[in-house]
Amino acid sequence: MNMVTNKILEMEEYAEKNDIPIMQKSGLEYIQRKINSINAKNILELGTAIGYSTICFASVSDDIKITSIERNEERYKEAVKNVNDINYNDRVNLILADALEIDLTDKYDLIIIDAAKGKNIDFFNKYKNNLNKNGIMIFDNMNFHGLVGKSDSIKGKNLRNLVRKIEIFREFISVQEDYYALFIEVGDGLCICERKKDIL
Ligand code: SAH
Ligand code: MG
Repeated sequence: MNMVTNKILEMEEYAEKNDIPIMQKSGLEYIQRKINSINAKNILELGTAIGYSTICFASVSDDIKITSIERNEERYKEAVKNVNDINYNDRVNLILADALEIDLTDKYDLIIIDAAKGKNIDFFNKYKNNLNKNGIMIFDNMNFHGLVGKSDSIKGKNLRNLVRKIEIFREFISVQEDYYALFIEVGDGLCICERKKDIL
């Protein structure tokens, strides 16, 4: 088995053991295909955790560069170790920071948002300026384990508020004048967000 495949399996086990909420396999595969179909070379991810999805995206092609931001130091350190172990450090740039508190000037072909689920409106407003002209944004956990749409019946206040925020985000992103929002039932629910273009 090659080094990268081996590392991916090892990270899946680590995530399971340590309760790290990594992306579901089908969602990952969908995004990997998207990376291919739009020929994304410069990618930004918010929410690295241990670098699992980051490494899966980087493994699509040797000429992909990916920057990923994580605010939890312990997870960030684990991600750095994982990326170094497979010699991806020349094209995977990991940043320890709160994504809402730093400013990136680069433009990206693809921005994947998998960080705090209640902050997606803020992430969208801040990072839409970092999209290339034909760039797209993908948000994960749009179904939040099947709870989205059922927030009224959730007993716990914190969970109810979080799920409400995802419901509000879905409405918000659906009525943007300059962007299309496409919801797909893959993994835990993805939202594909593309800028409308003037073609006439
Ligand atoms: N994308 C990863 C999983 C990310 S889990 C994978 O599929 O492998 C979500 C991560 O986002 C958590 O580790 C959390 O610490 C991080 N996070 C949440 N809010 C953030 C913020 N504002 N800035 C940076 N990271 C954030
Ligand atoms: Mg996720």
